[in-house]
Amino acid sequence: MIRYHSTNRASPPVDLREALLRGQAPDRGLYLPERFPVVDHQVRRHFTSLPYAAIAAEVLAPYTEGLLTRDELETLCRQAYDFPVPLEPVQGMNRVWILRLDRGPTASFKDFAARWMARVLARLVAQDGRPLTILTATSGDTGSAVASAFHRVPGIRVVVLFPRHEVSNRQRRQMTTLGDNIRCVALEGKFDDCQALVKQAFADPALAGLNLSSANSINIGRLLPQTVYYFYAASRVADPDEPVDVVVPSGNFGNMMGAVIARRMGLPVRRLIVPVNANDEFPRYLATGRYEKVVPSRACLSNAMNVGHPSNLARLVAVYGGWMDESGRIREQPDLDAMRRDLFSVSVSDEETRTAIREAWERHQLLLEPHGAVAWRGYQHYLHTTQPPAAPAVLLETAHPAKFPEEIERLLGFQPEEPDSLKALDHLPESYDSLEPRYDLFRDYLLALPRP
Ligand SMILES: *Cc1c(COP(=O)(O)O)cnc(C)c1O
Repeated sequence: MIRYHSTNRASPPVDLREALLRGQAPDRGLYLPERFPVVDHQVRRHFTSLPYAAIAAEVLAPYTEGLLTRDELETLCRQAYDFPVPLEPVQGMNRVWILRLDRGPTASFKDFAARWMARVLARLVAQDGRPLTILTATSGDTGSAVASAFHRVPGIRVVVLFPRHEVSNRQRRQMTTLGDNIRCVALEGKFDDCQALVKQAFADPALAGLNLSSANSINIGRLLPQTVYYFYAASRVADPDEPVDVVVPSGNFGNMMGAVIARRMGLPVRRLIVPVNANDEFPRYLATGRYEKVVPSRACLSNAMNVGHPSNLARLVAVYGGWMDESGRIREQPDLDAMRRDLFSVSVSDEETRTAIREAWERHQLLLEPHGAVAWRGYQHYLHTTQPPAAPAVLLETAHPAKFPEEIERLLGFQPEEPDSLKALDHLPESYDSLEPRYDLFRDYLLALPRP
């Protein structure tokens, strides 16, 4: 059975159940599996003909041993992954694919992790009999993915805090039209205020009775399922031993950590390319070995990546043998040479992002939204630094273009076609509460909620 240890090294290792329920380790570090089980060549050869859900069960089985039976895991993966995962070859380029992770119910890649984690937690609650309250602060995509994934899960209640004026109408509707066990709170403040209230609630002994848990990106349950699509994509585009370049547009670095772990599990990733927007703390660190957060974070077109200090960086540093503490200080340098061999990172401006959306469409009939466009532009930067022949490459598109209709209309002159899940939103009634950003008010609100 795999155990999970903290990046801060001061808390004892725990099993998956405890890691999932705690979210963060008591020493304020992040949980990582103590080893990465190898998916060997023979098994990966077999993936070529397996559907996504079956690959997910195969890749994740060693991590959930002791918590789920193989049957339970397979059923859960089938239920979580009941939507298509398209791999689109780029016209006019040799062996370059776009992996569209935007076909889930809330149209961002966060559905992959949220839907899996919701089902695992549902099992836990069913075993324990103790109801759970999931508390989450969101600037948009996380809240909707989590709310949708946990909707109507028995024994679990979700409270989502969002900044009233910082989420789009569509993002708000994705959360507020669900009802049932999903409670949404519009805060008259900023995303940082939402996060501060959630943090305070977790530390408040008066709320212990609520059995609070978090579904944010530091939870190991959000990370593990993000290893799967790398195995899936490689099985579709390359032979089991052929190295593949992978391009992941990044903010909090949870998605790219999925690729880092997949590689430790034996997937031959040649280079992991990690483009970021104007929040360039990581490429600067990789170049100089000096880490400085970007404070305050910079607002860019690819808004889900506006992160001035990626919370998963502590995990990346740990995997490469170093130690970054919870404040973002490097206590021990990782193996920077190895990191530089494995990773390539570059900052992409909003202007480049817009150009990328236009060029991808005009030259390749490829429709991208701002996050995927950062990946595209970052890949071009990478190609300038490397000699051909490059390996086959998979670029991740992390959101559906229909989430950014105004920007795409401005650049390309048409509106992207909407998936059904987004179309339906405009006709559903909304329900949410409003609060001033004061902790006493928020605590009273939580205490007054009916039991799940
Ligand atoms: C969250 C998000 C990202 C960034 O992913 P990280 O795991 O935080 O690096 C990129 N694109 C979209 C659309 C997102 O919602």
